[in-house]
Amino acid sequence: MTLPPTQRRAELAANLAAVRSRIDRARVVAGRADPVTLIAVTKYFPAGDVDLLCELGVRDVGENKVQEATAKVAGLAHRGDIRVHFIGQLQSNKVRAVTAWADVVQSVDREKLVTGLGRGALEHGRRIDVLVQVSLDDPHVPGRGGAAPDGARRLADLVAGTESLTLRGVMAVAPVGADPRAAFARLAEVARGIREDHPQATWISAGMSADLEEAVEEGATHLRVGTAILGSRPSLG
Ligand SMILES: *Cc1c(COP(=O)(O)O)cnc(C)c1O
Repeated sequence: MTLPPTQRRAELAANLAAVRSRIDRARVVAGRADPVTLIAVTKYFPAGDVDLLCELGVRDVGENKVQEATAKVAGLAHRGDIRVHFIGQLQSNKVRAVTAWADVVQSVDREKLVTGLGRGALEHGRRIDVLVQVSLDDPHVPGRGGAAPDGARRLADLVAGTESLTLRGVMAVAPVGADPRAAFARLAEVARGIREDHPQATWISAGMSADLEEAVEEGATHLRVGTAILGSRPSLG
């Protein structure tokens, strides 16, 4: 963590290369020619790391805490070159703050958030890309984040009907201790259902450090990878 910048840069470069080759191999296995977007999840790591990643070609970063991300984004030297994704659970009273800087909000799982994001984006004169977060816990576990699969379609309709928001697709986290492949297959099915009404909603955000191969094989278009790129997160919150 406290490496000098040149050493940290070399470490990040090596980790990124390893992750990119894992993704390429998974694409070959899956027979996929379409691109897969890598989102570097930089939560708990400093703005300096985000700038280094940007210099190494990363164009998408993920953050999951509003306060931390608000300060970090403001301190980025390369802000103009990257797309910032908010991927964490969102409390209603923090929605407005997120609309000041998020390019994408991936964790929309209830109506109230859609209304708040729509209003905040409008106030800031911005358009925000939105993913509906789907819960893949079976049975549904309240508090883990995500809308139940049968409610995702209604939420997608609501996002699509909001002027300052663009519906891009779906996001999910694999359930703890379950087979990620089956969960991601289920997510792909939910995504298919939403595309019947919203053909432009093509993004499927799934897969993290431990299960990115399964996600690519089940059709993920976006991967959210933290630990495998940045190392173990410091334990402070
Ligand atoms: C932290 C986080 C990730 C990255 O997890 P790693 O296992 O470190 O790759 C992905 N998605 C969400 C929603 C996260 O909060």
